[in-house]
Amino acid sequence: MAKRPYISVMTTQKRTNLIGLSRDELIEVLSNIGEKPFRAKQLWHWMYHRGICDFADMSNLGKPLRKKLVEGFYVGRPEIVQSLISSDGTRKWLLKLEDGNEIETVMIPEAERGALCVSSQVGCTLNCDFCNTGTQRLVRNLTAAEIIGQVLVARDEMNEWPSGKPGRILTNLVMMGMGEPLMNFDNVKTALHIAMDGEGVAISCRRITLSTSGVVPMIERAGLEIGVDLAISLHAAHDELRDVLVPINKKYPLDVLLKSCAAYPGARNARRITMEYVMIKDLNDSPEDARQLVKLMRQYKIPAKFNLIPFNPWPGTNYECSSKNAVHRFSQILNDEGFSAPIRKPRGRDIMAACGQLKSQSENKKITRPHGRTAQGYAVIGPVYTPG
Ligand code: SAH
Ligand code: SF4
Repeated sequence: MAKRPYISVMTTQKRTNLIGLSRDELIEVLSNIGEKPFRAKQLWHWMYHRGICDFADMSNLGKPLRKKLVEGFYVGRPEIVQSLISSDGTRKWLLKLEDGNEIETVMIPEAERGALCVSSQVGCTLNCDFCNTGTQRLVRNLTAAEIIGQVLVARDEMNEWPSGKPGRILTNLVMMGMGEPLMNFDNVKTALHIAMDGEGVAISCRRITLSTSGVVPMIERAGLEIGVDLAISLHAAHDELRDVLVPINKKYPLDVLLKSCAAYPGARNARRITMEYVMIKDLNDSPEDARQLVKLMRQYKIPAKFNLIPFNPWPGTNYECSSKNAVHRFSQILNDEGFSAPIRKPRGRDIMAACGQLKSQSENKKITRPHGRTAQGYAVIGPVYTPG
């Protein structure tokens, strides 16, 4: 069994959280207390199909086993500290983790489906210029338990247990919350395997999208080892601008990024890679930019579709959203060249829940120093940002 870093197993008062363990790890943990592998299957069903947290409610586990479980383990979730509902029905939860850090998770309901926007890190190290999360100084990777925990909290809150409940709204996952999922590969992989497991949360890989700003060395592994749909935060049609907007471009420029997209395992015309493109006024929204994008997709032979995201403002940003006309003109050019290019409707702007607006509110309450360590003992990474 592959060992993962101990950090992915959360403990409270010496008890171990069973959430976030892979099936193999769960089997091992149970065998350490003298239990057979079939117990893991039973526990899995209660935790991920039925959403049960209390061992006392797991009726097919005998009393002696339940006693052992209560003594050494728990079924934990991040704690909801704030729950907001937008006028458009979007929901945002501010969640507190066991070490006091906070993250945000957003549920975007549509008529017959809905996507949960899941965070992978507290903050983000990559500091994209137009993204609120990138301004957050306090950064750490989320554990697998904290990542899958967001899905469980959403199911609790929306009363969507058991997992296959008819008419449920939480049908899709998008790794588009706070953080860069490919900078936290192992924990994201474990959490998504739990999400995809047919005997539990059971969200198919075709309903999960992982968005990356372009951590090229991990893109192929994401395709081979996780196998979900890929979205790339492209945002610029040439390196000069992308270096500014998405600084990881300096390390992995467009040529390298687009080659790795062309080689993404599983990408084909029926399963296209989504190119996300934030529309920023007078910066990347000209017809020439659109035509250059078409040229790039053809040159690198990428089975691509576009997703145009009107820039969502946040306090302190200098960027502005492109005009409606510019966005429609841009979309039309891509359409005329045969590329799907829907314009993403901003959701939850009134509760700061739209793409790129997420940032832990706890950040502002914490005493941090620009280089070194915070009062809480976490590394401070990235440039200093003064909240606007
Ligand atoms: N770190 C990953 C996923 C999280 S961000 C990534 O960068 O892909 C999800 C999407 O929102 C990305 O495409 C990101 O570039 C975009 N985004 C960030 N800030 C935004 C803003 N202010 N307005 C609109 N989209 C934004
Ligand atoms: Fe991080 Fe993505 Fe925001 Fe860039 S856009 S700072 S990679 S969360």
